[in-house]
Amino acid sequence: MQTLEYDLVVVGAGSGGYAAARTARDLGASVALVDHGPLGGLCILRGCMPSKAFLASSDALHAAREAHALGVRIDGAIGADMPFIAARKRALVKEFADYRIEGIETFPLHQGHATFISDRTLVVGEHTQLKARSFIIATGSSVAPAQIPGLQETGYIDSDGVLELESIPSSVAVLGGGYSACELGQFLARMGAKTTMLIRSGHLLTYADDDVGDALTTYFREDGIHVIERTQVTRVERRGPRKVVHYLLHGEKHELVVEEIFFAQGRVPNVEGLGLATAGVAFDQSRGIVIDATLRTSRPNIFAVGDVTGDYPLVHVAIYQGEMAARNAIKGENEEADYSIVSAHTIFTDPQIAHVGMTEKELTAAGIEHCVGRYSFAEHGKAMCLNTTRGFVKMMSRLVTGEILGASIIGPQASELIHEVIVAMTYHATVEQFMRIPHLHPTLAEIWTYPAEECAMQCGLREPVDQMIELATSAGPG
Ligand SMILES: Cc1cc2nc3c(=O)[nH]c(=O)nc-3n(C[C@H](O)[C@H](O)[C@H](O)COP(=O)(O)OP(=O)(O)OC[C@H]3O[C@@H](n4cnc5c(N)ncnc54)[C@H](O)[C@@H]3O)c2cc1C
Repeated sequence: MQTLEYDLVVVGAGSGGYAAARTARDLGASVALVDHGPLGGLCILRGCMPSKAFLASSDALHAAREAHALGVRIDGAIGADMPFIAARKRALVKEFADYRIEGIETFPLHQGHATFISDRTLVVGEHTQLKARSFIIATGSSVAPAQIPGLQETGYIDSDGVLELESIPSSVAVLGGGYSACELGQFLARMGAKTTMLIRSGHLLTYADDDVGDALTTYFREDGIHVIERTQVTRVERRGPRKVVHYLLHGEKHELVVEEIFFAQGRVPNVEGLGLATAGVAFDQSRGIVIDATLRTSRPNIFAVGDVTGDYPLVHVAIYQGEMAARNAIKGENEEADYSIVSAHTIFTDPQIAHVGMTEKELTAAGIEHCVGRYSFAEHGKAMCLNTTRGFVKMMSRLVTGEILGASIIGPQASELIHEVIVAMTYHATVEQFMRIPHLHPTLAEIWTYPAEECAMQCGLREPVDQMIELATSAGPG
């Protein structure tokens, strides 16, 4: 067995691990990457990028169907070419993965399964032993195993399976109401599958504020997706060529007969076979590796970042953590992660959803006195011109000082519009300061000035209008 020594060994070359390796190398450290492949990481291969490539097609299909509302006539049938859509997605994924692999291969790369045999040594495959002063574990997550009786035997697809589809099933039962269930469930529905979503809670996106989750649930229903809330799936069986989902609703037994089942009930951290116990690294099989604010595990020379730590399964968080863990490992520092703004996220449904900071229910639960301002896209001039009036924005600010504590949006371009509030919160802006930012007219972005103004009034901060930059409040027509 060959033994190699480095300053840092990074296990997992996805978004978090690759960012960590680059940062450590830039600091002058000798760094090796370990990955059992396929190389590219979840985001590129089976996550963000293929899903967004698919959604671009289903959104365009929907826009074509709705174009008559803007006076656009499309003669002839509007339809989707699924083999083309699948091939386009494959080409994009290959292009992104090739580029990432090029970057990965600029490091010493050890391809194989990594297993710690001590807190200073790990083995890769049968022939290589790697020693290092520090390690960063960035092994990501996998689709959670299906626990529902009969599901395994009956057969189902998970998010990986949806992203590999070459044709659309005629009917689908989506089990779950999280972001992946919503994005890909809406894709399937728009592509022609009769879609039913069975969820346990009272609305889609359980963690979100009720007004946001309820709004998305309503819009899905308006679009013909059958969302059944407060259900408990009891078992699944095959009946001839069809699949049958048995569930309880208000204590009564029901069954749903479909062509395909999309199981979308979460992911689990990739900790299997890593030898974490041998290395003395504390972990929880379902929640992931335990880390402190400096991203160190229970072994101070071993760090963990990204999905394997469980808390914020988002690419930008994996990168933020990867870069910080590398700096702490190489420079021996104790920089601490702060997720108050970095945990901002977006969901690419139509309408899109985005959020930054604390939600209204988190603020209430934490007993933080706050103001809430809301404004609906249905009353916003630019949204009316664009015929994209579904949804609303809301902003939460601290009572008395007016510091912006959080913001949510469900509506057009939410994934882009949220960045303005992210910037404002990064610089600890108050609602009053936010209102002084000039907003161009007519734009979707100027909708933020309304909740900011409402918060300012509630907080008693609003100054007479003539002292303010008029543009900030001129979102109406003209
Ligand atoms: C359908 C879907 C859509 C998504 N959409 C978004 C989105 O729009 N925006 C967003 O921010 N996030 C999105 N995500 C989440 C995002 O993809 C992940 O949070 C992110 O990719 C995690 O990066 P990571 O570095 O932690 O892990 P990964 O990218 O999964 O990398 C882990 C690497 O470790 C390797 N590995 C694992 N175990 C071992 C081992 N024992 N030995 C050696 N190598 C090993 C793997 O081969 C892999 O290359 C989506 C996820 C899914 C499933």
